[in-house]
Amino acid sequence: MSDMPSQGAGAVLAIDLGAIVANWRLLKARVGGADCAAVLKADAYGLGAAQVGPALAAAGCRQFFVAHLDEAIVLKPLLPRDATLSVLHGPLPGSEAEFVAHGVRPVLNSQAQIDAWRALAHRLDRELGAIVQVDTGMARLGLDERELRALADDRGAFFGLRVELVMSHLACADDPAHPANAAQLVRFAAARRSLPQAPASLANSSGIFLGGDYHFDLVRPGAALYGLAPAAGAPNPMRPVLRLQARVIQVRELPAGTPVGYGHAWSSDRPSRIATASVGYADGWLRSLGNRASVWAGEVELPIVGRVSMDTVTIDATALPPDALRPGDAVDLIGPSCDVDRVAAQAGTIGYEMLTRLGRRFSRVHRHGVDSEPTCRARRAEERTIAG
Ligand SMILES: *Cc1c(COP(=O)(O)O)cnc(C)c1O
Repeated sequence: MSDMPSQGAGAVLAIDLGAIVANWRLLKARVGGADCAAVLKADAYGLGAAQVGPALAAAGCRQFFVAHLDEAIVLKPLLPRDATLSVLHGPLPGSEAEFVAHGVRPVLNSQAQIDAWRALAHRLDRELGAIVQVDTGMARLGLDERELRALADDRGAFFGLRVELVMSHLACADDPAHPANAAQLVRFAAARRSLPQAPASLANSSGIFLGGDYHFDLVRPGAALYGLAPAAGAPNPMRPVLRLQARVIQVRELPAGTPVGYGHAWSSDRPSRIATASVGYADGWLRSLGNRASVWAGEVELPIVGRVSMDTVTIDATALPPDALRPGDAVDLIGPSCDVDRVAAQAGTIGYEMLTRLGRRFSRVHRHGVDSEPTCRARRAEERTIAG
């Protein structure tokens, strides 16, 4: 039913690097004069930072973010020399010198991290660059108001440091009507007045779509690059990036009343054709999708029936003619007719979690077709999604 590469893999995850690049360009165009970074944490949300980083660098992206130092150490040699790679969590105590050794920039989130970075600058007798993060209403990372007041009164607080960016993070940006967005904007402006003058960054993917007030000098999208919808409930302007296909292993005809799978959580109420496909929760196809999600054979939707097993799902293929689906054929789990956000909602989670859970057991294919147009079928599917 389709052109899957390896016959040995049960399932294939195809990642369209050209679509990721197109999404980055779309976001960059949207923020006008501001710069557009790329967030590559968690292995580029599971899609392969080693492939995504260089593809975006080739398109002109020069600012990258990961969460941990270890992620940065792996990625840094794959990026151009003039690219900046920043670590959102900043240095854990004792790791400061490693940041310098690897040419990686920390985000300093607390007075203690600032002190440690300044102490290292003093020891090395050279100026060290850093990002300073302020908490404007998420209570997760960043300087709080008490720390900001103390810093504003301390003339030597940043001695030896070069503050290259002041940043904060939005808690509710995916809901444009949420009053926390404007409140964070006001607090961000106030916080900047207590800190050394530097370029500023507030918006993640969703923040970009809150409007120009939120763009400042640099935006930091992750999810939207990977095709996730930046605003819940609104049409998704991003290009789809993923196709996940699994192979059918076996097809059987069942009389009415036959229970299927673990716990007998589904039974046929009519004679049924059940296909077993080679993907399960060990691949990140979440167990909560049992009896909820579907797969697609071309344009035909086939419900997943019964529980998701570790390595398999069972599919009600009664809607297809006999022999339309055979062992070795591929069905789509994520693709033209079924985007990640929709599958995530069926699993009771968000696209971010779905993406980052898609495991390492797939055969992964990175496609490079830069700026290719979506196929006709993908476009029709998009129109359907938006219309419905
Ligand atoms: C993860 C993260 C981002 C990217 O967020 P998306 O919603 O995926 O665009 C940006 N900034 C910070 C601080 C983050 O932790």
